[in-house]
Amino acid sequence: MSDGNAILVTGGAGYIGSHTVRLLASMGRKMVVLDNLVYGHEEAIVDPGVKLVHGDIGDHALLRELFEEYSFSAVVHFAAYAYVGESVTNPLKYYRNNTSAPLALLEVMQEFGCKQFVFSSTCATYGVPDQIPITEKNTQNPINPYGRSKWMLEMILQDCEVAWGLRSTCLRYFNASGCSADGLIGEDHNPETHLIPRVLMALTGEAGPVEVFGTDYPTPDGTCIRDYIHVEDLAAAHARALDHLGAGGESLRVNLGTGVGVSVKEIIQAVEQATGRQVPLIYGPRRPGDPAQLVADPSLAWEKLGWKAQKTNILETVSSAWKWMSGPRGGRYRH
Ligand code: UDP
Repeated sequence: MSDGNAILVTGGAGYIGSHTVRLLASMGRKMVVLDNLVYGHEEAIVDPGVKLVHGDIGDHALLRELFEEYSFSAVVHFAAYAYVGESVTNPLKYYRNNTSAPLALLEVMQEFGCKQFVFSSTCATYGVPDQIPITEKNTQNPINPYGRSKWMLEMILQDCEVAWGLRSTCLRYFNASGCSADGLIGEDHNPETHLIPRVLMALTGEAGPVEVFGTDYPTPDGTCIRDYIHVEDLAAAHARALDHLGAGGESLRVNLGTGVGVSVKEIIQAVEQATGRQVPLIYGPRRPGDPAQLVADPSLAWEKLGWKAQKTNILETVSSAWKWMSGPRGGRYRH
């Protein structure tokens, strides 16, 4: 695999990473996945042709070995911690893993002349948005260490471009959701804090009633509005980003969302419609740090990458998540 066409995918055994790896493998892309399996799952790599290396993105020696062997043309960097609440109580864990560890990766890329980087960034880099829908021109003013850890890496990538010509695409995800259409791979976080799986876990009995965090937001039904982007659409955007960089395209920072806002109550209704069951729920106070609305203007991704969300029907998204949650694995790779 040392023909210079292989891609290194860090964190490829995680939720968004594994869906992307599966898509890229189906397109015939050669890949090595580097994952420390802290939150990733070996079982999420379903294609036998994809090599999984168990290791850390901050490990210079391991990275050098891999670059030596595979001469990667590009890196797709998913590996990161992503619990906002934990980032507030343990910020150094986030700055260490999300900001500092990737420096080793970038150093080794520079050493080996690898100059294409696809980065999992986030709408959390915008903080409380100064306008809705959020365009890439919105001020980036993250309000928690998670958002800041990602924002800092965006800045570092820009500096690397000036210094040694690294080209990057910072893909600012909105709320990743759903799972593969066939239910083979899906979302398995431990602990699980995200709304859609929490609602589904309330149905399966894996968790108690779902708590709606706040009903007094300045939104039509009083609950928070988010832009739920299907994980397979996110995967497709990574394929486009790789093609873009591979064709010599300029560095980009683009929002990946549907452009459609959905409230917490609407998610619960969609789940009830998709499953024909009533969701046990309780109403609670606001969760600290939650902006009322986060909705993308995804038009730049269309303009620059020819990408737009295909799965914009929330019913389809929650149905795919339910397929995984109610399927043979019960929403878990291991029990
Ligand atoms: N939410 C909720 N109950 C939960 C989990 C989430 O009401 O058990 C709300 C949360 O306040 C937010 C939305 O659902 O408005 C999406 O939250 P999630 O944690 O899934 O993603 P985030 O927007 O924080 O990245």
